[in-house]
Amino acid sequence: MTPEASIPGPAPIDESALRAYLSDELPPDQMARVEKALRESATLRARLEDVRADREDFQLHSLGAIWRRSRLTCPTRQQLGSYVLDALDPELGAYFQFHLEVVECPICQANLSDLEAQSRSNSGSDGSRTRHQRILKSSEHLLGDEA
Ligand SMILES: [Zn+2]
Repeated sequence: MTPEASIPGPAPIDESALRAYLSDELPPDQMARVEKALRESATLRARLEDVRADREDFQLHSLGAIWRRSRLTCPTRQQLGSYVLDALDPELGAYFQFHLEVVECPICQANLSDLEAQSRSNSGSDGSRTRHQRILKSSEHLLGDEA
């Protein structure tokens, strides 16, 4: 062990940080920081795959499995509802799409299909659709034109 923890501020994400990430040894805020960096950097994702490939005992730790296990960035059900209605900030919507289609988070996929089914069965039948449309309208107003 080195006394590096005494250095203030975020340390660069090096191979040892990636190894710790793979083996779930980082505290939650560090896990989130590494995950965020991975999301933003294809280079770092490639490095993570290299680190993972170097370690036979990490064979079960696919990127998707790690993300699924940590579930650090699952959207709330309310956010998923806005995603269904296409009423999210575009950047957040893009992240959720990544979370659902690349990470393939089973929890959020299940929530999403549930919400989609609700959204379909609710249309025209009760007051919640109207409320959703009102939320959607106010979001459109905030976002300006979305072509
Ligand atoms: Zn999720």
